[in-house]
Amino acid sequence: MTQSGVSSQSVLERLGLSTPMDLVLHFPLRYEDETRLASLAQARPGRSLNAEGEVVSAHVVTRPRRQLVAQLRDDTGEIQLRWLHFYPSQLQQMQPGKRWRVRGEVRSGFNGILELVHPKVSQASAPLPQRLTPVYSSSEGLAQKSIMRAIESACAQLQLTDTLPEPVLAELGLMSFEDAIRTLHWPRPQEDIHALELRTHPAWVRVKFDELLAQQLSLANARASRQLRRATPLPPVPASKSEAPSLTEALLAHLPFELTGSQTRCLQEIYADLLKPHPMHRLLQGDVGSGKTIVAMLAALRAVENGQQAAVMAPTEILAGQHYLKFDAWSKALGLRCVWLCAGLGAKVKRQALADIESGQAHLIVGTQALIQDGVVFHNLGLAIVDEQHRFGVSQRLALSRKSDHDLLPHQLTMSATPIPRTLAMTFFADLDVSVIDERPPGRKPVKTKLVSAGRRDEVIASIGHAVRDGGQAYWVCPLVEESEALELQTATQTYETLASMLPDLRVGMVHGRLHPNEKSQVMQNFSAGEIDLLVATTVIEVGVDVPNAALMVIEHAERFGLAQLHQLRGRVGRGSEQSVCILLYEQPLSQQAQVRLRAMYETEDGFEIARRDLQLRGPGEILGSRQSGLALLRFADYEADALWVEKARDLAAHLRETYPEIAQAHLDRWLQGRQEFLNG
Ligand code: ADP
Ligand code: MG
Repeated sequence: MTQSGVSSQSVLERLGLSTPMDLVLHFPLRYEDETRLASLAQARPGRSLNAEGEVVSAHVVTRPRRQLVAQLRDDTGEIQLRWLHFYPSQLQQMQPGKRWRVRGEVRSGFNGILELVHPKVSQASAPLPQRLTPVYSSSEGLAQKSIMRAIESACAQLQLTDTLPEPVLAELGLMSFEDAIRTLHWPRPQEDIHALELRTHPAWVRVKFDELLAQQLSLANARASRQLRRATPLPPVPASKSEAPSLTEALLAHLPFELTGSQTRCLQEIYADLLKPHPMHRLLQGDVGSGKTIVAMLAALRAVENGQQAAVMAPTEILAGQHYLKFDAWSKALGLRCVWLCAGLGAKVKRQALADIESGQAHLIVGTQALIQDGVVFHNLGLAIVDEQHRFGVSQRLALSRKSDHDLLPHQLTMSATPIPRTLAMTFFADLDVSVIDERPPGRKPVKTKLVSAGRRDEVIASIGHAVRDGGQAYWVCPLVEESEALELQTATQTYETLASMLPDLRVGMVHGRLHPNEKSQVMQNFSAGEIDLLVATTVIEVGVDVPNAALMVIEHAERFGLAQLHQLRGRVGRGSEQSVCILLYEQPLSQQAQVRLRAMYETEDGFEIARRDLQLRGPGEILGSRQSGLALLRFADYEADALWVEKARDLAAHLRETYPEIAQAHLDRWLQGRQEFLNG
């Protein structure tokens, strides 16, 4: 097939290969060794063969279907060649007595005869290639030869000059960029093909390192540009200002518990950031139930003590509502005004809320995405707190920060219960400082997790009855129905009816995504207040809900949930002093992945361990939301396998930025081609 230049260009673009650098980095999937000839006696099924021989015979056979079969012989043995489709010219080619070079994968055919099906046929005795032959991923209509030519000309155009100076390469033991690229596309026969294909070869190390360096440079740039922005410093209020205890002291005295060591440490890290005239950009990370909310409240108070407002935004109405209940109760105890804002507010209430936010009457503002809408004008927003930030889009997260006046940005605290392993956090959130609450409030008993087959559903229902009669409360989480929210609702309603009729003396409630926001928060308040014994829920309760008296959770069709989601759900129990139980009801047969997930849930309650296993199952991009992290910048390097190189790249990035900014820039230009803009949020 012939290709015009224009059409192969457009095919290349469809493959995502539009710039010379794209082409240079389009590495082969595998390699074929055509640099040596084997004898026919060396043919082994499943291996490739490159050999020469003489045609002994060739026939068109018609059974079981029309095909061309030929025999080829050398001094050591014979092999059969077979074509299921062929042109008359090929029959011509296979005249007995002719010599050919053939190449293909050896198969064991009918009666165990070794054969090559549709072999590549070329002139015998032609010079052998000096390099291994690359095989590229392609799409229909684009021949390997066209890709190869395009890559060769891209390499010539870029000249493959090194962005890094020789001494740096020597110190890190890296090969030159040109060597690496040439080795990856056209390896010499003595190269370790296995290492090339496994991507462990030194040529790969160089490419991965370059990529990591570009990523670290761009994250460092994003951090530096944040240092140029200004924010109001929020120092502790001097004791001299008043005789009375500060708001912070008052709240601490009011709490029925002491902060854990971890909470105190995280708070100190936040306080230290708030002193600075640049916006804080800190992630407060802590497993479910670790007590992030009070830390957020104390941070918010620091803003209020400085005469500034603090806002808390959460992704769902239920979660935001839970925060509001707590922030409002604490505010009332301190004589502060906390305002609630969500989409479903009545016109009058909303007008009042907006007025209070604008006039500064509202010290604390808690709500959903409603906080970032146009009509909301803050008096002076000093601190923006975003909970479960990975559920928001980037633009939404940034929008709250932009809600400040003039050119001052508010400090930003994000909270997440998605535990991110240390290497990952250090590497990919280089523009985010991370504080981790790695300790649970004292007195918590571990949740007992049971895996129960769905066949024993009735027994499980009966056990809910017992638990509630002993004064407890329970959740029943309905299966996730990915295809349809309507179906999910239907399932929840049916479950609700079944449970209500099987447990007639229980007060059963239901909450799901289709409820009006006001109804939703009403149900949650009733459950919190102990007026509902058993709450039938869809995954809307997944994040943040905090009802310590609920010590039993049943998750139906647990096999359908993701690991992180199960962990979040289970985190709703185990919050009080009672022994909590989480029953994972599953339906047979279990897929392999589902087995791994359920086993992980059974074996551990440690959020970091769960996250580690989840990472293995799903890969980091899905967990972190690749757009939010530096992960989007990585195609070749692997955060875990290449962790050592990550640290070296980070160190070199710092050194280059400081000492050789033009090298840093050249490296970024080559590698990122404008893909870094989203990091500059
Ligand atoms: P999460 O980190 O999941 O948001 P929360 O902030 O909702 O956790 O806290 C979970 C529960 O632990 C809440 O009931 C909270 O009042 C309680 N809590 C928080 N800190 C402490 C502490 N230091 N000692 C005892 N209980 C605490
Ligand atoms: Mg929470």
